[in-house]
Amino acid sequence: MSQKPVIYLKDYQAPAYQILTTDLRFELNTEETLVTSHLRIVRAEGADTQAPLQLHGHESVELISLTLDGQPLAAQQWQREGELLSLQALPAEFELICVTRIHPAQNTALEGLYLSDGIYATQCEAEGFRRITFFPDRPDVMSVFTTTLIADQSQYPILLSNGNPIAQGELEGGRHWVTWQDPHPKPAYLFALVAGNLSKFEDHFTTVSGRKVLLQIYAEAKDLDKLAYAMDSLKRAMQWDEEVYGREYDLDIYMIVAVDFFNMGAMENKGLNIFNTACVLAHPRTTTDAAFQRVESVVAHEYFHNWSGNRVTCRDWFQLSLKEGFTVFRDQCFSADMHSETLKRVEEVSMLRTAQFAEDAGPMAHPVRPESFIEISNFYTLTVYEKGAEVVRMLHTLLGPELFRQGTDLYFARHDGQAVTTDDFVQAMADVSGRDLSQFKRWYSQAGTPRLQVRDEYDAAQQIYRLRLKQSCPATPEAAEKLPFHMPVKISLLDDEGALIPGTQQVLELTAAEQVFEFTQIQAQPLPSLLQGFSAPVKLDYPYTDAQLAFLSKHDNDGFNRWEAGQQLAVRLLQRLIADYQAGKPFSLEARLVEVWSSILEDEQIDPAMKSLLLTLPSEAYLSELAEVIDPDAIHQARRFLRQALAQALEAQWLNLWTAMDSEAAYQPTREEIARRSLKNTCLGYLMTLDNAAYLALAESQFNAADNMTEQQAALMAVAHSNFSDSAAALLDEFFHQWQHESLVMNQWLGIQASDPKPGALARVELLRQHPIYDARNPNKLRAVIGTFCQQNPVNFHALDGQGYAFLADRILELDRQNPQIASRLLTPLTRWRKYDAQRQQLMQAQLQRILQEPNLSGDVYEVASKSV
Ligand code: ZN
Repeated sequence: MSQKPVIYLKDYQAPAYQILTTDLRFELNTEETLVTSHLRIVRAEGADTQAPLQLHGHESVELISLTLDGQPLAAQQWQREGELLSLQALPAEFELICVTRIHPAQNTALEGLYLSDGIYATQCEAEGFRRITFFPDRPDVMSVFTTTLIADQSQYPILLSNGNPIAQGELEGGRHWVTWQDPHPKPAYLFALVAGNLSKFEDHFTTVSGRKVLLQIYAEAKDLDKLAYAMDSLKRAMQWDEEVYGREYDLDIYMIVAVDFFNMGAMENKGLNIFNTACVLAHPRTTTDAAFQRVESVVAHEYFHNWSGNRVTCRDWFQLSLKEGFTVFRDQCFSADMHSETLKRVEEVSMLRTAQFAEDAGPMAHPVRPESFIEISNFYTLTVYEKGAEVVRMLHTLLGPELFRQGTDLYFARHDGQAVTTDDFVQAMADVSGRDLSQFKRWYSQAGTPRLQVRDEYDAAQQIYRLRLKQSCPATPEAAEKLPFHMPVKISLLDDEGALIPGTQQVLELTAAEQVFEFTQIQAQPLPSLLQGFSAPVKLDYPYTDAQLAFLSKHDNDGFNRWEAGQQLAVRLLQRLIADYQAGKPFSLEARLVEVWSSILEDEQIDPAMKSLLLTLPSEAYLSELAEVIDPDAIHQARRFLRQALAQALEAQWLNLWTAMDSEAAYQPTREEIARRSLKNTCLGYLMTLDNAAYLALAESQFNAADNMTEQQAALMAVAHSNFSDSAAALLDEFFHQWQHESLVMNQWLGIQASDPKPGALARVELLRQHPIYDARNPNKLRAVIGTFCQQNPVNFHALDGQGYAFLADRILELDRQNPQIASRLLTPLTRWRKYDAQRQQLMQAQLQRILQEPNLSGDVYEVASKSV
């Protein structure tokens, strides 16, 4: 059982006290750290004079002393209960000095202050600051921070915190100190410090108004050659935010620090971002193109938070999507501008439709603005981030780019320096547009993925075409009945040549449960292209024929929908194959898909990156999300068969295209080169399904010739997952010896093995856990092995002997004592038991029960497990 109470949005109360200034002093020692905080506090206007001051402090924090206006606090004046320290009988204005002792070296949860491979680092979002000192650890309490760090000079030559360095000096015994001051009031979750032996890469950026900003990226010396791309991305992001949102950076220095041990991707601490190395280090030899793009987007995301998150922050954690949904939307548009809008959209929608839709259909489903939680860490979800970004995107679609920009300008101007709500964000959009967005706000309060059913009729005599749109939304834990959403549905009507019928491309606004839209002067039965660009996060249902999908995949005037038509055609075919497998019928290949794939392969008009996407079959994860009852074996076998059959039927074309995409040119991370490598790897993947020694040789030659990780890794993956076991072992070994000193590359090596669908994966995973490069304390390693096995190896994880489930439960129980956030995240696959057959349901539930029987579960794991059984 968990001790932690449920927190409700409806119980929100404004803080009774504000902290004007926060002076912190950290004495960093090997065994322990002493923290002295000096707070200047005032009672909030209008607050009850009897109101207690509530400070938060984690149980691991040892309280050494508390003084109020220079006097030790009397025993009856304070009370510590759970995470709350309440002070009574307070003056309207006072100073509080609090000394605490903490133990960063023993901090394995990686929240608060901890040691990452000899580097002190903090993670305070959402509630990590209370693991450092006693403080009103809530985002609506903002304060000006001044921070002094004291540490051994030789071990920790670099001492960083938020803002600007204002003083420094040396002390006896080889120690030194630095004081930092951040002029911008901020909530405690944006506090950060770093101390360690770090190297730096420096550059400058001159803002629109001509201010020169010093940019620094810190990492271990061995990684100094992997920082240029992050720096370049940062400068492009700074410029983009000035151009697209009119946002200028507001300090003289911007720092990023790379650490190996980090629970998430990165953190936007004011002026001092802390990054998981996986999201900042990039070098062609060690980093794939996909990872390069991830670095670019995460660097931009954290930078964009400086306005959407830091200058304007959240009132409470229920408003998390205020900063995250908006900032994801901003980073998505940035990446689209840097690369290709359509490609980026395909990537976003694929992730949303597999992972977020699955979350929305599961026991942890919650609205973009949740109503309650036990542990806020459990709500850093795809719903808050990705669906939240879709909601902002819909506002952008409904208002159009100009009004949307006026809306963000108003939002930033109106709320600068404040802690606000998603309602405030929508209000700014309503005010600039004069639109009533009250119905639109249901996207924030109602969970679940809406269905959008579309039917049509054509009246030839009247030349009228009608689209009948009908929406509904399934029940989710917070509500059984849903009210209709305000949904932008972008459409076009095409004639039988595939040309756009003039005037028909538009955004239909569906607000009722059912609505009919009429188009006049339509000369012949048109073909509708629906939900273009995926204009709303819904499941579309329209009875296209296979032939119409094949037609749209060629002619749709929307790039995203061209891709989508091909995908839906493949989905149908795969669903028929899945049914065949379940009925014990032999597989057979339908000619239509071969024709479509063949014409894509031959079409020289299609850009190689798009071609690669078009030729990639829907993932097992997406097929699972679409299934009524998930049959992991049938899904795997059907997809495998189709890949192999397409490889065979079009063998010469795959090989020709691989050859055409092969190049001697040196690596470049440009759009054209990324596209070329992507298509080349897609071709290799198909060819390798044929179990043909000639293609094994091709893959090995690609592996050996590659001057970059994108081609080397794809070749390794193709061989490692093939049936050539000796070659697989040899190549994995070679790769290991080449890269064993590159921790991030080793994560790839682990992941490739953990995702190998061949039988016996669990035993291989057990061996990986014994491997010297494995480290069960490092979240990246846990994700590479345990996360990958449980989420990207469905045939093995869901094996009917139940061993995969028991393995995961063992790991959760072990990890819960060490790092509850990671334990809780890894638990996700077990929570999805309702979507499986009776036998698997029982096996999965049994493991959830086993976890729940553990007496001292963290709030994190308790919340997810208890809501899931
Ligand atoms: Zn964020």
